[in-house]
Amino acid sequence: MGMFDEVTIKCPKCGEENIEQSKAGECLLIPYTVDSCPDEVFEDIILNCPISCLKCKYDITARDIIISMYPRLRIFSFDIWAAVY
Ligand SMILES: [Zn+2]
Repeated sequence: MGMFDEVTIKCPKCGEENIEQSKAGECLLIPYTVDSCPDEVFEDIILNCPISCLKCKYDITARDIIISMYPRLRIFSFDIWAAVY
C-alpha cells in the first residue's frame, strides 16, 4: 500500500477544504496545510494545479493557493503576480 501525505487546500470560491495527496515528501500520512507542508510537498501540489474543488468544481490554481497564503497580497493587481511568476 502506497504512503502519502495529505494537504488541505481551501477552495477560494466556496470554502470547501479539499484534501490533496502527495508522495513527494516523507509520506508519513501527515496532515498538512499549504502553510505548514515541507517545500517538496508544496512544490508537488503546485505542479498538480489546477485542483478541481470537490464541492463546486472550481479549478483551484497555483495562484489561488499562493494568494491564500498571503492574504495581504490580495490588494495588489494581477500585474504584480505576472511579475512574480
Ligand atoms: Zn469550491
